[in-house]
Amino acid sequence: MSPSTTTMTETRYWLVDPPVEPEQPREQPAFPVEAIRRDFPILHREINGRPLIWLDNAATTQKPEQVIETVSEFYAAHNSNVHRGAHSMARRATEQYEEARAAVAGFLGAGGPEEIVFVRGTTEAINLVAQSWGRSNICTGDEIVLTTLEHHANIVPWQMLADEKRARLMVVPLDQRGGVDIAAYEDLLSSRTKLVALSHASNVLGTVPPVKEMIALAHRYDARVLIDGAQAVGHFPVDVSDLDADFYAFSGHKLFAPTGIGALYGKAELLQQMAPWQGGGNMIDRVDFDHTTYAPAPHRFEAGTGHIAGAIGLRAALDYVTNVGRDAIADYEDWLTGYATAALATIPGITQLGTMPGKIGVLAFLSDRASPEQIASQLDAAGIQVRAGHHCAQPTLRHFGAQSAARPSLSLYNTREEVDALVSTLSAYLQQSQPSVANAAPRNTQQSADSVASLPRFAA
Ligand code: PMP
Repeated sequence: MSPSTTTMTETRYWLVDPPVEPEQPREQPAFPVEAIRRDFPILHREINGRPLIWLDNAATTQKPEQVIETVSEFYAAHNSNVHRGAHSMARRATEQYEEARAAVAGFLGAGGPEEIVFVRGTTEAINLVAQSWGRSNICTGDEIVLTTLEHHANIVPWQMLADEKRARLMVVPLDQRGGVDIAAYEDLLSSRTKLVALSHASNVLGTVPPVKEMIALAHRYDARVLIDGAQAVGHFPVDVSDLDADFYAFSGHKLFAPTGIGALYGKAELLQQMAPWQGGGNMIDRVDFDHTTYAPAPHRFEAGTGHIAGAIGLRAALDYVTNVGRDAIADYEDWLTGYATAALATIPGITQLGTMPGKIGVLAFLSDRASPEQIASQLDAAGIQVRAGHHCAQPTLRHFGAQSAARPSLSLYNTREEVDALVSTLSAYLQQSQPSVANAAPRNTQQSADSVASLPRFAA
């Protein structure tokens, strides 16, 4: 990236020594977790000779029987392409596909199905907005505001656009607990701001920024706001109309639906003005060799055959979540997150990253006795699946002077007993190891300075 298209914003780096003051865990709320677990066949398998404990939900969630059955029934009994052909099978598949679109609209609180574009997932949704809306609306000198919480999917497409258009990325720093620095955000907004791209929940720190307030602030400058809802929709209720989001992106696989399907919400007046970003079948009105006219939104953004079974499976997943109750899920996970945070805090030498109140159940941590990779591999041997690495959010980890972290992440089917197994396995393993400088959470200015130096130029 050339320096001319970038900007230097002040990013503050906190040394990792944040106070983790877990609140007193509250009573476990009534929640039918055992009945829910029976819906997920995979939770009853063993891994490495031990019962599977799936704590990699931020990467992807497991699928309930209701979703598996729906997808399998589609292929067994209803498979057809959609929007084409006048036969009964095509008509039925089209109906199911469009009903799924309406279900997504209802689930997100959108104005109607015409505001929902089916995509492969969050990444594709953000690239669609960058390539379509962004290419027509971002000009030289314009500013795109991001936060240090963003997943690479909500950084790189904007960086590519900024590079092409000679626009600038402005990065909002985090505070010590992993919260977005709202005063800095307000300072960064100006009449040059054309877009704000914000995570609704961080996949590393679990932080849930005050997106409704942040959207309202951006709208004062007539900026558009895209919300990356990948980590939000499976954990708490989302209403795009109440948020007044301009765009909202999510992936089905993070909310119990198949991989390869997700949705982009866009306000109708925006989608209608936007040019297609991919050409092909299904997205046209009339094609001649000298000119083509396009189908109205959302179809003009869906070139080629989409993931029909995936969309129908997504609808089944949305029904599943709605039947369990989105408020009840949020309440149960909030309790389990508090319980897990307090339990992890009892292990000597553990530093938890991201301690904002109201966070989702993403519990990234460092240990002074073992690397994240060693920890993940030890837990794996005990059947406990957690991720170690940069979690596709390198700038977030660098904020804490870290390159990598171990990350258990919770979902509606996880239990207190699974958290206990995580903590006891971890304690037993770490007790055998000595604290080492190599693994220590960065505490000195040199390490912090190094991490600043290794940041991409736009955020240094
Ligand atoms: N944003 C966030 C916050 C995420 O956690 C993820 C997935 N880890 C993505 C975007 C990208 O999602 P996908 O790979 O499904 O496109």
